[in-house]
Amino acid sequence: MMSAGQTPPSSDITSFRRYCQAMLILRHRLPASAVAEFQVREWLDRKLSGEGAIIRLAGPGAAGRVVTLSKEEESMLDCYFSHARSISLQNQAPGKSDQGRFFLGTDGAPVINLGSDLIRLREKYSAQEPGEMEAAAPTPIPAACASASGSLQGQPPASSATPPMQAGSRVRHWDAFRSAFPVTVHAEPPSRGQCAEAGFTQHRAYYLKWREAQLRLRKVYILEHAVGRRGDKPRLATVQRLLAKETWGSNRPTAEDIMKAWMPPQSASRDEEALLCSVKDQRWKGLAFKDFGEGKGLGVVATMPFQHLQVLCDYHGEVISAAEGNRRQQSGYLFFFRAEGGARLCIDATASPCACHQGMDIFGRRLNHSRSNPNARAKKVTLRYPDGPKEAVIFVALRDISVGEELLWDYGVTRQSFGGGGQRLSVAQQLMLSRGSSTST
Ligand SMILES: [Zn+2]
Repeated sequence: MMSAGQTPPSSDITSFRRYCQAMLILRHRLPASAVAEFQVREWLDRKLSGEGAIIRLAGPGAAGRVVTLSKEEESMLDCYFSHARSISLQNQAPGKSDQGRFFLGTDGAPVINLGSDLIRLREKYSAQEPGEMEAAAPTPIPAACASASGSLQGQPPASSATPPMQAGSRVRHWDAFRSAFPVTVHAEPPSRGQCAEAGFTQHRAYYLKWREAQLRLRKVYILEHAVGRRGDKPRLATVQRLLAKETWGSNRPTAEDIMKAWMPPQSASRDEEALLCSVKDQRWKGLAFKDFGEGKGLGVVATMPFQHLQVLCDYHGEVISAAEGNRRQQSGYLFFFRAEGGARLCIDATASPCACHQGMDIFGRRLNHSRSNPNARAKKVTLRYPDGPKEAVIFVALRDISVGEELLWDYGVTRQSFGGGGQRLSVAQQLMLSRGSSTST
Protein backbone atom coordinates (compact mmCIF):
# COMPACT_ATOMS: atom_id res chain seq x y z
CA MET A 1 0.00 0.00 0.00
CA MET A 2 1.12 3.48 -0.79
CA SER A 3 1.86 5.47 2.35
CA ALA A 4 1.52 9.22 2.71
CA GLY A 5 5.25 9.66 2.27
CA GLN A 6 5.12 8.08 -1.17
CA THR A 7 2.21 10.13 -2.49
CA PRO A 8 3.15 11.87 -5.74
CA PRO A 9 2.44 15.60 -6.15
CA SER A 10 -1.13 16.34 -7.25
CA SER A 11 0.12 18.21 -10.34
CA ASP A 12 1.72 14.98 -11.57
CA ILE A 13 -1.50 13.08 -10.95
CA THR A 14 -3.45 15.69 -12.90
CA SER A 15 -1.04 15.63 -15.87
CA PHE A 16 -1.11 11.88 -15.93
CA ARG A 17 -4.91 11.82 -15.83
CA ARG A 18 -5.09 14.34 -18.67
CA TYR A 19 -2.73 12.25 -20.73
CA CYS A 20 -4.88 9.15 -20.22
CA GLN A 21 -7.99 11.09 -21.22
CA ALA A 22 -6.24 12.52 -24.30
CA MET A 23 -5.23 9.03 -25.34
CA LEU A 24 -8.86 7.91 -25.36
CA ILE A 25 -10.06 11.04 -27.16
CA LEU A 26 -7.31 11.38 -29.76
CA ARG A 27 -6.14 7.86 -30.37
CA HIS A 28 -9.45 6.07 -29.91
CA ARG A 29 -11.63 8.89 -31.26
CA LEU A 30 -14.02 8.87 -28.32
CA PRO A 31 -16.17 11.95 -27.71
CA ALA A 32 -14.98 13.91 -24.67
CA SER A 33 -18.38 13.36 -23.06
CA ALA A 34 -17.98 9.59 -23.38
CA VAL A 35 -14.58 9.73 -21.68
CA ALA A 36 -16.07 11.81 -18.86
CA GLU A 37 -18.85 9.22 -18.45
CA PHE A 38 -16.45 6.28 -18.47
CA GLN A 39 -17.35 4.10 -15.46
CA VAL A 40 -15.12 2.18 -13.04
CA ARG A 41 -17.43 -0.76 -13.53
CA GLU A 42 -16.79 -0.76 -17.28
CA TRP A 43 -13.07 -0.70 -16.54
CA LEU A 44 -13.29 -3.58 -14.07
CA ASP A 45 -15.35 -5.63 -16.53
CA ARG A 46 -12.80 -5.19 -19.34
CA LYS A 47 -11.84 -8.37 -21.16
CA LEU A 48 -8.10 -9.02 -21.05
CA SER A 49 -6.32 -10.80 -23.86
CA GLY A 50 -2.73 -11.34 -24.93
CA GLU A 51 -2.83 -8.18 -27.05
CA GLY A 52 -4.40 -5.88 -24.48
CA ALA A 53 -7.96 -5.33 -23.35
CA ILE A 54 -11.45 -4.66 -24.67
CA ILE A 55 -13.77 -2.22 -22.93
CA ARG A 56 -17.48 -1.92 -23.64
CA LEU A 57 -18.87 1.53 -22.97
CA ALA A 58 -22.51 1.96 -22.03
CA GLY A 59 -22.78 5.69 -21.22
CA PRO A 60 -25.14 7.87 -23.27
CA GLY A 61 -22.16 9.57 -24.97
CA ALA A 62 -20.85 6.30 -26.39
CA ALA A 63 -23.51 3.65 -25.97
CA GLY A 64 -22.33 0.35 -27.35
CA ARG A 65 -18.84 1.60 -28.31
CA VAL A 66 -16.09 -0.96 -27.96
CA VAL A 67 -12.57 0.29 -27.23
CA THR A 68 -9.65 -2.00 -27.98
CA LEU A 69 -6.63 -1.07 -25.88
CA SER A 70 -3.08 -2.19 -26.53
CA LYS A 71 -1.15 -3.77 -23.68
CA GLU A 72 0.69 -0.49 -23.07
CA GLU A 73 -2.51 1.54 -23.03
CA GLU A 74 -4.15 -0.95 -20.69
CA SER A 75 -1.27 -0.84 -18.24
CA MET A 76 -1.25 2.96 -18.36
CA LEU A 77 -4.94 3.16 -17.45
CA ASP A 78 -4.38 0.47 -14.83
CA CYS A 79 -1.63 2.58 -13.32
CA TYR A 80 -3.95 5.59 -13.23
CA PHE A 81 -6.68 3.48 -11.62
CA SER A 82 -4.49 1.75 -9.04
CA HIS A 83 -2.12 4.53 -8.04
CA ALA A 84 -3.51 7.94 -9.02
CA ARG A 85 -7.31 7.72 -8.92
CA SER A 86 -7.25 6.07 -5.50
CA ILE A 87 -5.29 9.02 -4.10
CA SER A 88 -7.86 11.49 -5.48
CA LEU A 89 -10.61 9.35 -3.98
CA GLN A 90 -9.02 9.47 -0.55
CA ASN A 91 -8.98 13.28 -0.74
CA GLN A 92 -12.72 13.36 -1.40
CA ALA A 93 -14.75 15.52 0.96
CA PRO A 94 -17.35 13.73 3.12
CA GLY A 95 -20.79 13.52 1.53
CA LYS A 96 -19.41 13.77 -2.01
CA SER A 97 -19.61 10.93 -4.50
CA ASP A 98 -17.40 9.75 -7.38
CA GLN A 99 -20.60 8.61 -9.13
CA GLY A 100 -18.71 5.53 -10.22
CA ARG A 101 -16.72 7.59 -12.76
CA PHE A 102 -13.25 6.49 -13.80
CA PHE A 103 -11.60 9.90 -14.18
CA LEU A 104 -11.59 12.00 -11.01
CA GLY A 105 -10.21 15.42 -10.18
CA THR A 106 -7.78 15.70 -7.27
CA ASP A 107 -10.78 16.46 -5.03
CA GLY A 108 -12.25 13.03 -5.82
CA ALA A 109 -15.18 14.46 -7.82
CA PRO A 110 -15.83 13.38 -11.42
CA VAL A 111 -14.02 15.41 -14.08
CA ILE A 112 -16.51 17.37 -16.16
CA ASN A 113 -14.81 19.58 -18.71
CA LEU A 114 -12.45 17.37 -20.64
CA GLY A 115 -12.17 19.87 -23.48
CA SER A 116 -10.31 22.35 -21.28
CA ASP A 117 -8.18 19.49 -19.96
CA LEU A 118 -7.02 18.84 -23.51
CA ILE A 119 -6.17 22.49 -24.02
CA ARG A 120 -4.11 22.57 -20.82
CA LEU A 121 -2.27 19.46 -21.88
CA ARG A 122 -1.50 21.04 -25.25
CA GLU A 123 -0.26 24.18 -23.54
CA LYS A 124 1.96 22.16 -21.27
CA TYR A 125 3.65 20.38 -24.13
CA SER A 126 3.36 23.28 -26.63
CA ALA A 127 2.02 21.14 -29.43
CA GLN A 128 0.58 22.87 -32.49
CA GLU A 129 -2.41 20.72 -33.35
CA PRO A 130 -4.27 18.08 -31.38
CA GLY A 131 -3.34 15.51 -34.03
CA GLU A 132 0.35 16.28 -33.68
CA MET A 133 0.23 16.42 -29.95
CA GLU A 134 0.10 12.71 -29.63
CA ALA A 135 3.36 12.28 -31.45
CA ALA A 136 5.06 15.35 -30.02
CA ALA A 137 4.13 15.21 -26.37
CA PRO A 138 6.47 13.47 -24.00
CA THR A 139 4.52 10.86 -22.12
CA PRO A 140 4.09 11.80 -18.47
CA ILE A 141 3.90 8.18 -17.48
CA PRO A 142 4.73 7.24 -13.94
CA ALA A 143 7.96 5.31 -13.74
CA ALA A 144 6.23 2.32 -12.23
CA CYS A 145 3.95 1.94 -15.25
CA ALA A 146 6.71 2.51 -17.77
CA SER A 147 8.81 -0.23 -16.26
CA ALA A 148 5.80 -2.52 -16.04
CA SER A 149 4.89 -2.24 -19.71
CA GLY A 150 8.42 -1.91 -20.99
CA SER A 151 7.89 -0.38 -24.40
CA LEU A 152 5.97 2.86 -23.95
CA GLN A 153 6.92 5.66 -26.27
CA GLY A 154 8.48 8.80 -24.88
CA GLN A 155 10.18 9.65 -21.63
CA PRO A 156 8.88 11.33 -18.51
CA PRO A 157 9.11 15.10 -19.01
CA ALA A 158 12.43 16.56 -17.97
CA SER A 159 10.64 19.31 -16.04
CA SER A 160 9.25 16.78 -13.62
CA ALA A 161 11.95 16.41 -11.00
CA THR A 162 10.17 13.62 -9.15
CA PRO A 163 8.76 10.93 -11.40
CA PRO A 164 5.39 10.16 -9.85
CA MET A 165 4.48 6.88 -8.27
CA GLN A 166 7.90 5.31 -8.30
CA ALA A 167 6.74 3.06 -5.52
CA GLY A 168 4.16 1.46 -7.79
CA SER A 169 6.15 -1.49 -9.10
CA ARG A 170 7.46 -2.39 -5.67
CA VAL A 171 3.96 -2.25 -4.22
CA ARG A 172 2.59 -4.39 -7.02
CA HIS A 173 5.29 -6.94 -6.54
CA TRP A 174 4.48 -7.30 -2.85
CA ASP A 175 0.80 -7.68 -3.73
CA ALA A 176 1.73 -10.52 -6.08
CA PHE A 177 3.82 -12.13 -3.36
CA ARG A 178 0.99 -11.80 -0.88
CA SER A 179 -1.52 -13.38 -3.23
CA ALA A 180 0.89 -16.24 -4.00
CA PHE A 181 1.45 -16.82 -0.29
CA PRO A 182 -1.60 -15.52 1.61
CA VAL A 183 -0.79 -14.19 5.05
CA THR A 184 -3.03 -16.02 7.48
CA VAL A 185 -2.91 -16.55 11.21
CA HIS A 186 -1.83 -20.18 11.06
CA ALA A 187 0.13 -20.36 7.78
CA GLU A 188 3.83 -21.19 7.62
CA PRO A 189 6.00 -18.61 5.83
CA PRO A 190 7.08 -19.66 2.31
CA SER A 191 10.48 -21.32 2.07
CA ARG A 192 13.32 -20.06 -0.11
CA GLY A 193 12.57 -22.85 -2.61
CA GLN A 194 8.86 -22.01 -2.81
CA CYS A 195 9.71 -18.34 -3.40
CA ALA A 196 12.16 -19.16 -6.19
CA GLU A 197 9.64 -21.50 -7.79
CA ALA A 198 7.00 -18.75 -7.79
CA GLY A 199 9.48 -16.36 -9.42
CA PHE A 200 10.34 -14.12 -6.46
CA THR A 201 14.01 -13.37 -6.37
CA GLN A 202 13.94 -10.90 -3.49
CA HIS A 203 13.07 -13.67 -1.11
CA ARG A 204 14.53 -12.14 2.04
CA ALA A 205 12.75 -8.77 1.98
CA TYR A 206 9.33 -10.28 1.25
CA TYR A 207 9.88 -13.07 3.74
CA LEU A 208 10.47 -10.52 6.49
CA LYS A 209 7.51 -8.42 5.38
CA TRP A 210 5.34 -11.52 5.31
CA ARG A 211 6.33 -12.42 8.87
CA GLU A 212 5.68 -8.87 10.01
CA ALA A 213 2.19 -8.96 8.48
CA GLN A 214 1.48 -12.31 10.11
CA LEU A 215 2.65 -11.03 13.48
CA ARG A 216 0.20 -8.13 13.21
CA LEU A 217 -2.56 -10.53 12.22
CA ARG A 218 -1.80 -12.81 15.16
CA LYS A 219 -2.01 -9.91 17.59
CA VAL A 220 -5.40 -8.96 16.16
CA TYR A 221 -6.51 -12.58 16.27
CA ILE A 222 -5.74 -12.93 19.97
CA LEU A 223 -7.26 -9.52 20.70
CA GLU A 224 -10.46 -10.44 18.89
CA HIS A 225 -10.91 -13.33 21.26
CA ALA A 226 -9.70 -11.50 24.36
CA VAL A 227 -11.70 -8.30 23.98
CA GLY A 228 -15.25 -8.39 25.31
CA ARG A 229 -18.31 -7.21 23.44
CA ARG A 230 -17.93 -3.65 24.70
CA GLY A 231 -14.37 -3.47 23.41
CA ASP A 232 -12.81 -2.84 26.83
CA LYS A 233 -9.10 -3.42 27.28
CA PRO A 234 -8.51 -7.15 27.92
CA ARG A 235 -6.73 -8.45 31.00
CA LEU A 236 -3.13 -9.56 30.55
CA ALA A 237 -3.97 -12.96 32.08
CA THR A 238 -6.68 -13.52 29.44
CA VAL A 239 -4.25 -12.71 26.64
CA GLN A 240 -1.61 -15.00 28.15
CA ARG A 241 -4.12 -17.84 28.45
CA LEU A 242 -5.26 -17.49 24.81
CA LEU A 243 -1.68 -17.22 23.60
CA ALA A 244 -0.69 -20.39 25.45
CA LYS A 245 -3.34 -22.33 23.51
CA GLU A 246 -1.73 -21.54 20.15
CA THR A 247 0.84 -23.94 18.74
CA TRP A 248 2.72 -21.34 16.69
CA GLY A 249 6.34 -22.49 16.66
CA SER A 250 7.85 -19.15 15.70
CA ASN A 251 6.73 -15.60 14.96
CA ARG A 252 4.81 -15.50 18.24
CA PRO A 253 3.77 -12.10 19.54
CA THR A 254 4.34 -11.55 23.25
CA ALA A 255 1.37 -10.96 25.53
CA GLU A 256 2.77 -7.50 26.30
CA ASP A 257 2.94 -6.60 22.59
CA ILE A 258 -0.64 -7.76 22.14
CA MET A 259 -1.75 -5.55 25.02
CA LYS A 260 0.01 -2.62 23.34
CA ALA A 261 -1.78 -3.32 20.05
CA TRP A 262 -5.19 -2.92 21.67
CA MET A 263 -7.09 0.19 20.60
CA PRO A 264 -10.23 1.68 22.10
CA PRO A 265 -13.17 0.72 19.83
CA GLN A 266 -14.00 4.29 18.77
CA SER A 267 -10.63 5.15 17.27
CA ALA A 268 -10.79 2.32 14.78
CA SER A 269 -13.94 3.21 12.91
CA ARG A 270 -14.85 6.01 10.56
CA ASP A 271 -16.45 9.09 11.99
CA GLU A 272 -19.90 8.03 13.17
CA GLU A 273 -21.75 10.88 11.50
CA ALA A 274 -20.22 10.01 8.12
CA LEU A 275 -21.15 6.39 8.74
CA LEU A 276 -24.80 7.29 9.38
CA CYS A 277 -24.76 9.30 6.16
CA SER A 278 -23.30 6.42 4.15
CA VAL A 279 -25.82 3.96 5.59
CA LYS A 280 -28.72 6.30 4.83
CA ASP A 281 -27.66 7.06 1.23
CA GLN A 282 -25.96 3.71 0.60
CA ARG A 283 -22.98 5.61 -0.78
CA TRP A 284 -19.70 3.92 0.06
CA LYS A 285 -16.41 5.47 -0.93
CA GLY A 286 -13.83 3.26 -2.61
CA LEU A 287 -16.08 0.38 -3.69
CA ALA A 288 -17.21 -0.78 -7.13
CA PHE A 289 -19.07 -3.73 -8.59
CA LYS A 290 -17.26 -6.16 -10.83
CA ASP A 291 -18.69 -8.94 -12.95
CA PHE A 292 -16.67 -12.10 -12.26
CA GLY A 293 -18.47 -14.02 -14.98
CA GLU A 294 -20.40 -17.23 -14.99
CA GLY A 295 -20.58 -19.21 -11.80
CA LYS A 296 -19.52 -16.39 -9.53
CA GLY A 297 -21.41 -13.39 -10.84
CA LEU A 298 -21.21 -9.91 -9.40
CA GLY A 299 -18.75 -9.04 -6.65
CA VAL A 300 -17.35 -5.94 -4.98
CA VAL A 301 -13.77 -4.66 -5.37
CA ALA A 302 -11.82 -1.91 -3.60
CA THR A 303 -11.04 1.19 -5.69
CA MET A 304 -8.92 2.74 -2.94
CA PRO A 305 -6.67 1.21 -0.30
CA PHE A 306 -8.38 0.35 2.99
CA GLN A 307 -6.60 0.02 6.29
CA HIS A 308 -7.12 -2.78 8.72
CA LEU A 309 -10.40 -2.24 10.65
CA GLN A 310 -11.62 0.53 8.33
CA VAL A 311 -15.35 0.40 7.58
CA LEU A 312 -16.14 -0.88 4.07
CA CYS A 313 -19.96 -0.83 3.90
CA ASP A 314 -22.94 -2.21 5.78
CA TYR A 315 -25.12 -5.27 5.28
CA HIS A 316 -28.13 -3.30 4.14
CA GLY A 317 -31.61 -4.77 4.18
CA GLU A 318 -34.88 -4.95 6.01
CA VAL A 319 -34.39 -5.41 9.77
CA ILE A 320 -36.91 -7.95 11.05
CA SER A 321 -37.30 -10.21 14.07
CA ALA A 322 -35.49 -13.54 14.03
CA ALA A 323 -38.89 -15.26 14.15
CA GLU A 324 -39.91 -13.48 10.96
CA GLY A 325 -36.51 -14.36 9.47
CA ASN A 326 -37.14 -18.03 10.21
CA ARG A 327 -40.39 -17.78 8.26
CA ARG A 328 -38.40 -16.46 5.27
CA GLN A 329 -35.89 -19.30 5.26
CA GLN A 330 -36.05 -19.72 1.48
CA SER A 331 -34.08 -16.48 1.10
CA GLY A 332 -30.32 -16.68 0.64
CA TYR A 333 -29.74 -13.21 2.05
CA LEU A 334 -30.72 -13.55 5.71
CA PHE A 335 -28.34 -12.41 8.41
CA PHE A 336 -29.28 -13.32 11.98
CA PHE A 337 -27.73 -11.56 14.94
CA ARG A 338 -28.30 -10.74 18.57
CA ALA A 339 -29.04 -7.09 19.32
CA GLU A 340 -27.56 -5.08 22.21
CA GLY A 341 -30.51 -5.79 24.52
CA GLY A 342 -30.41 -9.51 23.72
CA ALA A 343 -33.26 -9.56 21.17
CA ARG A 344 -32.69 -11.84 18.19
CA LEU A 345 -32.93 -9.93 14.93
CA CYS A 346 -32.43 -10.63 11.26
CA ILE A 347 -31.47 -8.51 8.24
CA ASP A 348 -33.18 -9.60 5.05
CA ALA A 349 -31.30 -8.28 2.00
CA THR A 350 -33.26 -10.33 -0.54
CA ALA A 351 -35.01 -7.40 -2.21
CA SER A 352 -32.94 -5.78 -4.96
CA PRO A 353 -33.41 -2.92 -5.41
CA CYS A 354 -34.62 -2.42 -1.87
CA ALA A 355 -37.73 -0.41 -1.10
CA CYS A 356 -35.69 2.50 0.30
CA HIS A 357 -33.10 2.80 -2.51
CA GLN A 358 -34.92 2.37 -5.78
CA GLY A 359 -32.71 2.05 -8.83
CA MET A 360 -29.55 1.34 -6.81
CA ASP A 361 -27.54 -1.82 -6.49
CA ILE A 362 -26.47 -2.38 -2.87
CA PHE A 363 -22.85 -3.33 -2.09
CA GLY A 364 -23.37 -5.31 1.14
CA ARG A 365 -25.42 -8.11 -0.39
CA ARG A 366 -22.91 -8.51 -3.25
CA LEU A 367 -19.83 -9.37 -1.17
CA ASN A 368 -18.71 -12.88 -2.06
CA HIS A 369 -17.59 -15.64 0.25
CA SER A 370 -14.11 -16.89 1.03
CA ARG A 371 -13.25 -19.29 3.78
CA SER A 372 -9.54 -19.49 3.09
CA ASN A 373 -8.63 -15.87 2.40
CA PRO A 374 -11.26 -13.39 3.61
CA ASN A 375 -10.33 -9.71 3.89
CA ALA A 376 -13.56 -8.43 5.46
CA ARG A 377 -15.63 -9.41 8.42
CA ALA A 378 -19.12 -8.60 9.63
CA LYS A 379 -19.49 -6.64 12.84
CA LYS A 380 -22.63 -5.74 14.75
CA VAL A 381 -22.91 -2.07 15.68
CA THR A 382 -25.46 0.23 17.26
CA LEU A 383 -25.93 3.40 15.22
CA ARG A 384 -27.07 6.43 17.18
CA TYR A 385 -29.64 8.20 15.02
CA PRO A 386 -31.27 11.45 16.18
CA ASP A 387 -34.53 9.51 16.66
CA GLY A 388 -32.90 6.73 18.66
CA PRO A 389 -30.41 3.89 18.30
CA LYS A 390 -30.73 1.29 15.56
CA GLU A 391 -28.93 -2.02 15.17
CA ALA A 392 -26.84 -2.60 12.07
CA VAL A 393 -24.22 -4.95 10.70
CA ILE A 394 -21.19 -3.43 9.00
CA PHE A 395 -18.21 -4.90 7.18
CA VAL A 396 -14.74 -3.89 8.32
CA ALA A 397 -11.37 -4.69 6.74
CA LEU A 398 -9.82 -7.76 8.32
CA ARG A 399 -6.40 -6.58 7.09
CA ASP A 400 -5.02 -3.90 4.79
CA ILE A 401 -6.75 -4.10 1.38
CA SER A 402 -5.21 -2.88 -1.90
CA VAL A 403 -6.87 -1.29 -4.93
CA GLY A 404 -8.46 -3.89 -7.20
CA GLU A 405 -8.81 -6.57 -4.51
CA GLU A 406 -12.18 -8.23 -4.25
CA LEU A 407 -13.87 -7.88 -0.86
CA LEU A 408 -14.49 -11.34 0.57
CA TRP A 409 -15.91 -12.45 3.86
CA ASP A 410 -16.45 -15.81 5.42
CA TYR A 411 -20.19 -16.51 5.51
CA GLY A 412 -19.41 -19.15 8.10
CA VAL A 413 -20.74 -21.89 5.83
CA THR A 414 -20.35 -22.70 2.15
CA ARG A 415 -21.96 -20.59 -0.52
CA GLN A 416 -24.23 -23.48 -1.35
CA SER A 417 -25.74 -23.64 2.08
CA PHE A 418 -25.81 -19.84 2.22
CA GLY A 419 -28.12 -20.02 -0.78
CA GLY A 420 -30.03 -23.09 0.24
CA GLY A 421 -30.04 -23.56 3.99
CA GLY A 422 -30.63 -20.37 5.89
CA GLN A 423 -30.87 -22.16 9.21
CA ARG A 424 -27.29 -23.41 9.13
CA LEU A 425 -26.11 -20.00 8.08
CA SER A 426 -27.94 -18.26 10.86
CA VAL A 427 -26.54 -20.53 13.55
CA ALA A 428 -23.00 -20.10 12.25
CA GLN A 429 -23.33 -16.36 11.95
CA GLN A 430 -24.87 -15.90 15.36
CA LEU A 431 -21.93 -17.82 16.70
CA MET A 432 -19.57 -15.63 14.75
CA LEU A 433 -21.13 -12.42 15.99
CA SER A 434 -21.53 -13.48 19.58
CA ARG A 435 -17.88 -14.49 19.63
CA GLY A 436 -17.06 -11.13 18.12
CA SER A 437 -14.73 -12.69 15.59
CA SER A 438 -14.88 -14.32 12.22
CA THR A 439 -14.67 -18.05 11.68
CA SER A 440 -12.20 -17.56 8.86
CA THR A 441 -9.25 -19.13 10.54
ZN1 LIG B 1 -32.45 0.52 0.88
